Amino acid sequence: MEITTHFLINLSFLIVFLFFCFVFHEKGRNFLNSKLSFNFICYIALWSSMQFAYHADGGARYDLRIIPLVIGGLYLGIGPLIAGAVIIIRAFLGLDSGFYETAAFYIPLAFFFWRQYPRFSAIRPKKRIIYAVTVGLVISLITVLGMEFIHTRIFWLDAWFAFLTIPALGIGIIAYMIEFVRRNIQMKHQLIKTEKLQAVEQMGAAISHEIRNPLTAATGFVQLLQDDYLPKYKQKEYLALVKEELMAAERVIQDYLTFAKPSITSMEELNVKAELLQAIKILQPMANQNSVEITTDFSAVGFIQGDQQKFRQCFVNVIKNAIESMPSGGYLKIGTEFSKNTVAIEIADTGVGMTKNQLEKLGEPYYSTKGSKGTGLGMMVVFSIVRALNGSIKVDSELGKGTRFSFKFPSSRSTYLNK
Ligand code: ADP
Ligand code: MG
Repeated sequence: MEITTHFLINLSFLIVFLFFCFVFHEKGRNFLNSKLSFNFICYIALWSSMQFAYHADGGARYDLRIIPLVIGGLYLGIGPLIAGAVIIIRAFLGLDSGFYETAAFYIPLAFFFWRQYPRFSAIRPKKRIIYAVTVGLVISLITVLGMEFIHTRIFWLDAWFAFLTIPALGIGIIAYMIEFVRRNIQMKHQLIKTEKLQAVEQMGAAISHEIRNPLTAATGFVQLLQDDYLPKYKQKEYLALVKEELMAAERVIQDYLTFAKPSITSMEELNVKAELLQAIKILQPMANQNSVEITTDFSAVGFIQGDQQKFRQCFVNVIKNAIESMPSGGYLKIGTEFSKNTVAIEIADTGVGMTKNQLEKLGEPYYSTKGSKGTGLGMMVVFSIVRALNGSIKVDSELGKGTRFSFKFPSSRSTYLNK
């Protein structure tokens, strides 16, 4: 069983080699991501199998070249090239009768693979494996038969056994590996696509829902304005309301754009304390209404690089949520801390809090527990702005106790110059 053992060892090396190629491919290493690199792997497999052939007495060589030939020919469409390579490599081993036999066999094979490749990719994955194994078996059979006739050797059980089992086994295993990896990749792509579609769908729903409300209201007021006998002061009041509604619609679009295009456009140095004070100022009336007491604890300095508008918008959204989580009053603590490389911002409320499940959904487009009052866009915008600022967010929340948002941003270098 010398030939069989030799083949089995060769096959195990080949499979281990291919296994590592696939693992690297899965990890997305660039050099393995092109079809070209897989062609290259095929040639390496071919060369090594021919290099480490089993030499029988009488000059016959037995090797596993059928495996790279079938796999390359059917899966990569390089059958003619591989067949050509076999002939060339064989030529280097000597231009004897063996070389001409090889050429006589491999030239028709090249033609066969050239015709088969387009058909092969059209059939179903499972059938592809069976088909590849069958092609391997037939080529093996012709090879041993040819050897019997040409070398007029007595029936040699070992050669027959080796040729009829090992190449087919190898082709089966490798074809299975290829189909497996292919399916994984396809599934990954599909998942990414559905996720994107879903996000776009949800955004579309959120946008149309949110914009329709103010537009309907504005249309109503415009209709009222058409009344010729409307007193002047009423006209003014209605016009103000129309403007307010249109601005609400504009805000929703702005939110959407911030989400869709998270890239920061105008980078500047931001004084974190000043920006937060500005956000608090905007929301103070709302806090008063809800009997929320805001306390601040700012570190002396703290600068980051970012877009002022978006930074403010981010914290207005977070603070607004915090206030809204305390409809019957509470405390809101806003603090900053700065160290060598980071500026940390903490916003803690004593509001309704969130369950684990709710916490996981935080930031999903259109996720809101506020019914018609909420847009479910605020936190999504917050996450995308923080991402664009290279920051991070940590949220701790306990139902009924409150929520704490901890932000971290890289501090800008001039922090020290300003100090
Ligand atoms: P909206 O405020 O329009 O509902 P957001 O995206 O701003 O949308 O917030 C999504 C949801 O996250 C809110 O509906 C609320 O359930 C939850 N949430 C956000 N911040 C807090 C908070 N500070 N305390 C409790 N729940 C919060
Ligand atoms: Mg909100």
